[in-house]
Amino acid sequence: MEQSAQRRGPRRRPHSSGGAGGSRRPGGRGHGSHGGRGGGRPQGGGRGQGGRGRQGGGGGRQQSTFDPTQFINKNPVEVKEEVFVPKHSFADFGLHPRLLSAITNLGIENPSPIQDQTIPLAMEGKDLIGLAETGSGKTAAFLLPLIQKTLTNQNEITLVLAPTRELALQAESELNKFATAFKIYGTCLVGGTNIRPQIRALKRRQDFVFGTPGRVLDLINQGYFKTQNITNVVLDEADRMLDMGFIHDMRKILADVPRDRQTLFFSATMTREAEALVNDFMRDPVTISVKKKDVTDSIKQDVVVYDPSYKLDTLLTLLGKEELQRVIIFGQMKHQVEKLARELSRSGIKAESIHGNKTHGQRQRSLSAFKSGNARVLVATDVAARGIHVDGVTHVINYDLPTTFEDYVHRIGRTGRGVHKGEALTFVPKKR
Ligand code: AMP
Repeated sequence: MEQSAQRRGPRRRPHSSGGAGGSRRPGGRGHGSHGGRGGGRPQGGGRGQGGRGRQGGGGGRQQSTFDPTQFINKNPVEVKEEVFVPKHSFADFGLHPRLLSAITNLGIENPSPIQDQTIPLAMEGKDLIGLAETGSGKTAAFLLPLIQKTLTNQNEITLVLAPTRELALQAESELNKFATAFKIYGTCLVGGTNIRPQIRALKRRQDFVFGTPGRVLDLINQGYFKTQNITNVVLDEADRMLDMGFIHDMRKILADVPRDRQTLFFSATMTREAEALVNDFMRDPVTISVKKKDVTDSIKQDVVVYDPSYKLDTLLTLLGKEELQRVIIFGQMKHQVEKLARELSRSGIKAESIHGNKTHGQRQRSLSAFKSGNARVLVATDVAARGIHVDGVTHVINYDLPTTFEDYVHRIGRTGRGVHKGEALTFVPKKR
């Protein structure tokens, strides 16, 4: 294996939204956040060259032509955890005492930055745009005020739309944790699982309905899910839903939800498409941004230059190193991801895979095996890996190049979470 000796200092990636902690009205929104997805790419690489466009004559395969040097950062900056001092305590928000106890019992002491700023506004009934990433505590930021609202008025019905089944299920399980002391009911409408139990669930009272746009729309079209009584809508990771092509489904779903609802919109970035959605479906929203430092600056990154005839051998050599303890490998295509996991297992490396061709149950089993340490390697496609939280991932390997810089950032963000340092290695073919 040959590792490139090229060196580049840590790069800054311009933020595509306002600075941390800002609260802005829509008048101030837009400029500066319009850079869209391309706006956040480093100079000299990324989308402009490879883009999201398909190459290779419609074979469905997306290729990228990144400048490999952008995958190198051997001197990651030391991340000093800034101590956030919240302006509020949970007791200040006017939450039910038993909801407060549930929060305490979960070991949550103080509001996170997004919670500190959005909960008071959400409690006032305002529409909100929260610019925050996974791990920011955004789920509780929307659940706590909406649980409180439901306790005050039993006619409240909340629809939470999320890009992936995993994320929808995660949000539902957070509801169950917070609302344990109350008769608050929730259900999850996601694809890849039997629709019958979901139809049965919709015949009962549900205060919270979580779901992915495709299945939710399916159940609306089949007449099982009535949106006319919905009073609150949450769009969780809205940018990812748009990325995944859910825009038409989202618009159809929202079209019949009463206009006087409360809408909470959470997104890591504010793209033009997201802005259009906000303009069409939200009422005078307040924007709160708690975007963190650029993750790419703090993760050690390098390339692995491989000879295309020996790509798998290069990977096996790499995985022979002891320090690669818990590894996520990203591949482009579902069947290749599956094949790679099998090849690794055959070579004695315990590997699991997650991709869109697996059922929800299969994906959950793979993820559990990886989380518990039974499998050392998880091979994944970008879409399948979205929204998953696994602690202690020591290495992310981009076996196939990501298609966009955003995908790259998202992939490498699976490592180096919290105080753990991680490393990202990107396979780049040797020039002939
Ligand atoms: P999320 O960003 O919603 O995916 O939340 C990430 C994790 O943080 C979840 O496991 C939450 O239970 C947890 N969490 C939520 N709010 C807080 C908080 N204020 N302090 C510590 N952990 C939190």
